[in-house]
Amino acid sequence: MKKNFTIRQALCMYILLLSWAICIPQGVQAASAGAAAGVPPLVGSIPPPAVGEPDMRGAFVHVTDLAPDALLDIRYYSAYNFVGSRIDGYHAPTAILSRPAAEALARAASAARDRGYVLRIFDAYRPQTAVDHFVRWASDLSDQSTKEIFYPEVDKSRLFDLGYIAAKSGHSRGSTVDLTLVERSSGRELDMGSPFDFFGPISHHGAASLTPEQTANRELLKSIMEKAGFRPYPEEWWHYTLAEEPYPETYFDFPVQ
Ligand SMILES: [Zn+2]
Repeated sequence: MKKNFTIRQALCMYILLLSWAICIPQGVQAASAGAAAGVPPLVGSIPPPAVGEPDMRGAFVHVTDLAPDALLDIRYYSAYNFVGSRIDGYHAPTAILSRPAAEALARAASAARDRGYVLRIFDAYRPQTAVDHFVRWASDLSDQSTKEIFYPEVDKSRLFDLGYIAAKSGHSRGSTVDLTLVERSSGRELDMGSPFDFFGPISHHGAASLTPEQTANRELLKSIMEKAGFRPYPEEWWHYTLAEEPYPETYFDFPVQ
């Protein structure tokens, strides 16, 4: 009798353990996996690893860690942007990219240096929270405070239709950067024919109204970036995406800090 009871008890224990293993909360599993990989366990609900806090020592890096001479002019941390205020999700004036994109940008910085220029970065990885802020701003037609600087010829109600504002941005995938070139000797930014984030046809590559010098300046940036592994975006001279981006389907939402 005693032996039978022990076997039954062992069987019950086995079933209990099995059901616990099957029903273990996802978050606990993720935290355990993170701890095993050297990432501190997170408390509370765990976001999917792909869109949660990145491990800055691995998948994402600060751009200036790999390209230390790159200049940062992070407009969405400042009020000098088309919204007219600091954008949600920007907690520091810094630039973050996926490691492969940052490595490619370091190659571009080196090529620029050889020609007497430095890179000036306006934006890199952009959290989804920031894109949501853009969408809220674009929906508020009563706020036209930055129109004169950033979209003088475009009706604000058409910013979605014309593709200037969208619910998703490639920047949130972590391998896209907005930038220009600065002459090392003078510290002067090259004349690209339109300012960063100007909503209008003059910002397109090959815009007819550009002077030969402005066209040459855009071509110089394009050739440096393409040789480093980026592809241009026809509508914005400043916007480049790593051709072989590591997270082509993932829109991240950790803050810039
Ligand atoms: Zn961009």
